[in-house]
Order: sequence, then C-alpha cells, then structure tokens
Amino acid sequence: MTAKQNARALLCALLFVGELLLAGSLSSQGMRGTIRKESFGKTASGEQINLYRLSNRKGMEVAITNFGATVVALKVPDRAGKVADVVLGFDTLEGYEKGRAYFGATVGRYGNRIGGGKFSIDGNTYTLPKNDGNNTLHGGIVGFDKKVWKARKTASKDGESLELSYLSPDGEEGFPGNLSVKVVFALPADRNELKIDYTATTDKDTVLNLTNHSYFNLAGEGNGDILDHVLTLHAKQFTPVDKTLIPTGELRDVAGTPMDFTRATAIGKRINENYEQLVFGKGYDHNWVIASEGRGSLTLAAEAHDPKSGRTLEVLTTEPGVQFYSGNFLDGSKGKGDKAYGQRAAFCLETQHFPDSPNHPNFPGTLLKPNSVFHSQTEFRFSAK
Ligand code: BGC
Repeated sequence: MTAKQNARALLCALLFVGELLLAGSLSSQGMRGTIRKESFGKTASGEQINLYRLSNRKGMEVAITNFGATVVALKVPDRAGKVADVVLGFDTLEGYEKGRAYFGATVGRYGNRIGGGKFSIDGNTYTLPKNDGNNTLHGGIVGFDKKVWKARKTASKDGESLELSYLSPDGEEGFPGNLSVKVVFALPADRNELKIDYTATTDKDTVLNLTNHSYFNLAGEGNGDILDHVLTLHAKQFTPVDKTLIPTGELRDVAGTPMDFTRATAIGKRINENYEQLVFGKGYDHNWVIASEGRGSLTLAAEAHDPKSGRTLEVLTTEPGVQFYSGNFLDGSKGKGDKAYGQRAAFCLETQHFPDSPNHPNFPGTLLKPNSVFHSQTEFRFSAK
C-alpha cells in the first residue's frame, strides 16, 4: 500500500468507528424511551412503594406505581403540542390505598362482576367475598389493585419496559390456585402508545380476567365531563345486564339502540335516554363484544376523540370484550391537585373477557389450567387531530 492508500484506509476506519459510537449513543439515549424511578412513599403497613416514570421522544410520559400496578399519570400532547395528564388519580400513595374507584389500577383476579359471588369448576363451587351488593366486583375486597407488586426493568423490542409481577396465593379472595401474574408496560420511544402485556400461570384450575382500569378525560383530568367526547366502539353486540349489572347471557345487537357506537357518536348524546340498560347502569356501564371476537389477535376495539383538544385515543386488544364505563358513580370526591371528579368526569375502556363468564358457558372461557399460559395484550395509542 502507498502512504496515500494507508491514510485513506485509516480515515475510513476512523469514520466507521465514529459511526458505531454515534449509533451506540443514540440507541442508549435518544432512540429509546427512558425509565426513572422515584419513591412514592410507604404504605400504612410500612412497605416502600415506588413510582416509575416512562418517557419518550414524542412528548409522552407515563407514571406507574407498583402499588396495584397502577397507571398514576399519562401525559400526552394536544393538537397544539400542549401536554396534559389525561387520567384521573391521586397525588399520593395514600389516595390509592384508600380509594375505591380503581383509578388506573390493574384489576384482578377477576375484573368486573361475578354474579352471586359464586362459580364452579368441575363440580367444585367457590365462594367469593361480596363487595358489590350480592356480587363480587374486581376481584373481591382486596383485589390486585391493593397489592404491592414486584418491579423490574426489562428489555423489550420497544426499549426499556417495566415488568410488575405478583403471586396471588391459593385461596386468596376465594379463588383457587397459586396464580403468578406478570404485567409489562412499555412506552415506545417514537410512538405515543402505552403497551400492556399480561401473562399468568397457575398450579390449579382457576378463572381470571385481567384489565387496566384507567379513567380517561382527553381534555385533561379534572377538566369537566366527557359527554362531548366522541366514541366509536367496533362492536355489533353487547351483553345486556340485570339491574345488579350481571349479564343475562344474551348477546344483543346494538343496531337501533343507544348502545350503537359503530359510528362515532358523542358519549352524552343518548346517555340519558329511557332505555332500560342505561337506567340499570345509570349511563353506560356495559361490555361490548369486539367484532373479531375469538380471533385473539390485536384488534382495534375503540376510538375516543375530544374535539376541543384534538386528543384521540385508540384502544387495541386481543381480548374479546371491552367494558365502556362512563364514570357514572364518580361522586365529586377530590383527586390530583385537589380537583373534584364529578359524575362522568372520565370514561373507562376496560379490555376484558365478559363479566360473569364463569357462570355463562356461552361466553368466551376464562378458565386457566396448570401447564398453560394466559397471555393478553392491550394498547392505548394517542394522537391529536
Ligand atoms: C364497573 C363499574 C364500577 C367501576 C368502579 C367499573 O369497571 O363497571 O360499575 O362502578 O368499575 O368500581
């Protein structure tokens, strides 16, 4: 090689190393989202609880605590780029310990209602504590929303993710089997979406229904009601309920009823109609049957849009149902920043199996057996238009 060729080879090598270094620094900082951990205080019984702040390059931030595997804050930009927190919640751990509304929580072992607080597997009847009239709601008196979960950062294809795990002992709140549950929350670096991935295994036949119970107000939490939000539900049927909100077993067509959200409609447009189901729910508090029911692939279930801010939420899930709850039982109690959360100050879109499935053989099954793995995914995707 001539001296000139040597110099050129050296320059090429230097450029190559430089590029590698640059790519490395981007992938460990700029290209990925980050997770910051801070203290969220101690529970009444003295357990240390943390808050994990996930942020990305598109202006989205999600705060999650390992108390109840709860989404505490979810900040997203509006069409002008102004960021607001779009989920209801509390400023302190104490709020979550005392709260009864399941703000942002991971709900289990059985999200939604089990009629009469009873179900059977193979002729064995299991009796659960009743915490909603004659029924069991959201896993019983002390559900997963009140448990301390183990936290660890994991790597996923979306960068850093937060894995929360909980071992629910055999017999807890009346449910059979030691159930090991993992919930992984991921915020991709360059997309404004919260991805939630659930897995669970058991050592005895059991039933389960896991969901996230975030209360959304796309105008920002504490900023009025959600009656002007426009909602689409990709569902042709819903599961009507009795007056205690237990499904009758019927799958009813939404066509021609105020439950029809197949075309984008303001939540408040028909909410006060004298339709028996709306009277029973004091508004919307029902399970819709997602169009691709049974396929188990990630499917667009719902879209909500706030015309004022432009913020839009799309909900995708592998679950067969979604409970659309229009915040009917919110009673003006105070939340973040001492703001009062009145009736219909937020809505929930709880992706799930149908309520009371263990007592309805015609509904998609919620039985989990040893040696099989329960897996489900939900994504909350945000944009502004
Ligand atoms: C239920 C409501 C209940 C709310 C808070 C929702 O999932 O459908 O009936 O009031 O959770 O507990």
